Amino acid sequence: MLKRYLLAPGPTPVPPEVLLAMARPMIHHRAPEFDPIFAEVRENLKWLFQTRNDVLQLACSGTGGMEGAVSNFLSPGDKAICINGGKFGERWTKICKTFGVQVHEIKVDWGRAVDPQMVAEALKKDPSIKAVYVQASETSTGVAHNCKALADIVRPLGETILVVDAITALGVFDLKTDEWGLDVVVTGSQKALMLPPGMAFVSVSDKAWRLADKAKNAAFYFNFKRERENQQKNQTAYTPAVSMILGLQEVLRMLKAEGLANVFARHATLAQAMREGVKAAGLTLFPKESPSDALTTVTAPEGVDGQQIYKNLRVQYGITAAGGQDHLKGKVFRISHMGYADRFDVITALAATEMVVKGLGYPITLGSGVGRAQELLMPKA
Ligand SMILES: *Cc1c(COP(=O)(O)O)cnc(C)c1O
Repeated sequence: MLKRYLLAPGPTPVPPEVLLAMARPMIHHRAPEFDPIFAEVRENLKWLFQTRNDVLQLACSGTGGMEGAVSNFLSPGDKAICINGGKFGERWTKICKTFGVQVHEIKVDWGRAVDPQMVAEALKKDPSIKAVYVQASETSTGVAHNCKALADIVRPLGETILVVDAITALGVFDLKTDEWGLDVVVTGSQKALMLPPGMAFVSVSDKAWRLADKAKNAAFYFNFKRERENQQKNQTAYTPAVSMILGLQEVLRMLKAEGLANVFARHATLAQAMREGVKAAGLTLFPKESPSDALTTVTAPEGVDGQQIYKNLRVQYGITAAGGQDHLKGKVFRISHMGYADRFDVITALAATEMVVKGLGYPITLGSGVGRAQELLMPKA
């Protein structure tokens, strides 16, 4: 028997309470029993997003939410900045181009965070730019972009919105949607929200709704205005992912019981222990700055194939992590510590990494990373 451990940056493990909630008998979304459930989830999503605005609930993967965050706010010919520091930044560019948006791409070396000054300069040069698209946490590299600094630049501009892909950030580290002025925030169900894949969530500011009023809407299914009208009545425009919403109700209760500050502190502690453990084992972190607390991207050591590490983790030890994408394939491997994660997930990941890397012939002292992480993960006396 090989016991399975899911330590990939999405999908992530689903807590048993949530699985049980989702196993409840089907209810009808137009029947009265749906109303209080949806109302509770709507309120608690606002709490999680730190916003007083509606958080739209969509039946799709995270990318559906991203697509809607383009099609609902921009018209063909509009200009947008896309910050591209990895696979998901590149996705913003691709979606924008699909909808005829003129993209000014700010390329960031993979492993680095965007310099907000570059965004400020681009916006100054062309004030007709209507939106800035960014990842709060770029999952392909494990780097967090500084959304607060970007919001400080975009907020004073009357007609330009900041759109944040927070799919591996929301519920991991602090994102003050209203206070900072993040106009559109997108997340998905299968990362920090501890649910199976299949839902996206999007908050929209007043400023962004004003832009939506002017946009020539190319969306039918992802029509945010229609969704808002329905969701304010505790309904959805089309059939919602009912069982997922039952699971989400449980997730939000769990997160509320823990408290936002504790959720962020837990992720910060796990991430720090993971990073320190990796370094203590003699391995190198891939991010050169601003690592995300959602996952750790590790550079494969000299002479060792990163894909082989990823593969051996799975085949030899039952651990599903993730490899590198595009030009990082073979160069890095990625391990998640977001969502339903605690200290023993980090210790398991480090122990297995040491065993796999040593097994591939690279000199490593077994227990060196684990020991460092254990020190950091013990309760402070
Ligand atoms: C997972 C992820 C997405 C969305 O992916 P889907 O497969 O469509 O759910 C988008 N952005 C980031 C940063 C992600 O980590």
